[in-house]
Amino acid sequence: MSPDPAFFAVDGVARSFGGFQVLADVSLAIGQGEVVGLLGPNGSGKTTLFNIATGFLPPSAGAVRFCGRDISRLSVQERSRLGVVRTFQTPKVFEGLTVRDNVALGFYRQMRAGMVESLFGAPRARREVADARAASEPLLARFGLKPLADTAAARLTAGQRRNLEVARALAGAPRLLMLDEPSTGLTRDEAMALADMLLDLSAEGMTLFVVSHDMEFLRIVGRAHVLSFGRIIATGTMAEIQADPQVRQIYFGS
Ligand code: ADP
Repeated sequence: MSPDPAFFAVDGVARSFGGFQVLADVSLAIGQGEVVGLLGPNGSGKTTLFNIATGFLPPSAGAVRFCGRDISRLSVQERSRLGVVRTFQTPKVFEGLTVRDNVALGFYRQMRAGMVESLFGAPRARREVADARAASEPLLARFGLKPLADTAAARLTAGQRRNLEVARALAGAPRLLMLDEPSTGLTRDEAMALADMLLDLSAEGMTLFVVSHDMEFLRIVGRAHVLSFGRIIATGTMAEIQADPQVRQIYFGS
């Protein structure tokens, strides 16, 4: 089944850094409600493609489309307001804030760090902050963070940080959640628990785009694309990808 290209699409994207071409004519589409993976060896261009999709980097050529609209020139914040939200390989949390306030911040997804500190200090915003904190409770419970709600984020383990980052992203009510190497730094049990959590989200209708080289974690995807030297060399289910001769050559040398 081919996805509805009108939901999210990368269309003919190329990117060079100082004459060195990292991505060449990459096209892929993600249908609403799909869980799609992106894998490839180190240096194949995954992060660059992810950064272009989320607005951290402009493409040298090509376009990024969301819901039929060209969003290639929109900033990270503008995309986020439309519902295109990402997590990072190294979770970005506000170390000095409590776990609860980190999630509460997700309700203010377009804010920058400086504005956040002042918001939490400003008396006129107290009501709004109280509302955001209250709205955070179900997400804290869902991600097993309730007992840590009043703990500073700096004290969390890698697995707890990842959960916090995903919980905060969900507070922003994303329509497309993009995760960059979500199982990195997690124990196997934590990674599998996160995979189950993402499957639950998918069952609720969330669209997910996951960059990962963790084949076990990638069981959550319905389809994946494989990048090699900046080009997509295979697309299919994980079973199809693992049986693809070119992919086997790259990953297993066979
Ligand atoms: P992956 O995420 O698949 O490991 P990357 O997208 O990080 O791959 O990198 C792909 C290639 O692009 C690598 O050769 C890397 O050195 C190069 N690259 C990435 N970012 C930059 C940059 N800002 N300047 C120059 N080269 C870069």
